Amino acid sequence: MKEVAKNVFLIPLFPKHMVNAYIIDGFLVDAGIRSSEKKLLKAINQVGREKIEAHVLTHAHPDHQGASAAICQQLNIPLWCGQGDVAAMESGLASEEPENFIIRFQQRFWTGPAYPVARSLHEGDQVGSFTVLETPGHSPGHIVFWREEDGVLIAGDVLGNANLLTTMTGLREPPEIFTSDVAENRKSIRKVAKLQPKIICFGHGPVLHNSNQLNQLVAALPG
Ligand SMILES: [Zn+2]
Repeated sequence: MKEVAKNVFLIPLFPKHMVNAYIIDGFLVDAGIRSSEKKLLKAINQVGREKIEAHVLTHAHPDHQGASAAICQQLNIPLWCGQGDVAAMESGLASEEPENFIIRFQQRFWTGPAYPVARSLHEGDQVGSFTVLETPGHSPGHIVFWREEDGVLIAGDVLGNANLLTTMTGLREPPEIFTSDVAENRKSIRKVAKLQPKIICFGHGPVLHNSNQLNQLVAALPG
């Protein structure tokens, strides 16, 4: 576990940062897949269990909510997520996605059990020193966490910084097959790019310290 910005700890859950979670202030952001529970608990214990106030999700996909129920139960903390993903979290299914074998595989091996959402998050809500921004598209209720004072963006899957098949690093849009509305997600990419973030933390891929790469990606977006 590494502190990548003030009170922002990166928890790599898969090799090469292919799946990440974070602790920002007293909040666990995302929880990998079902079998990520042990690694998450180890990281949480390093920070101190008592310091974790709540678990928040950027979105309720199987590679982000896999260990959510287990962690919330063990730590006795509430789960918060964006309004549009509450139904997916509470049903335990990453809904509104095309039926294909990869998603069926994820459902079977990655998806965590349903868990009640204690609070739905909205544009402008504060989570520690971060502000919630609504960034729908990859999922209906996708949110990111933004800290203006040092330009830190916890971006979830609005953008990725790795190719999940080749594991090569590189800034990119999330894979279309996992994205419920590609055009809407592009609007969200433009929204976060306007902030000119200095440090971008992704659900997938290493942390990026270069907003020029983001400007280039935005300039090349269709539409
Ligand atoms: Zn993801």
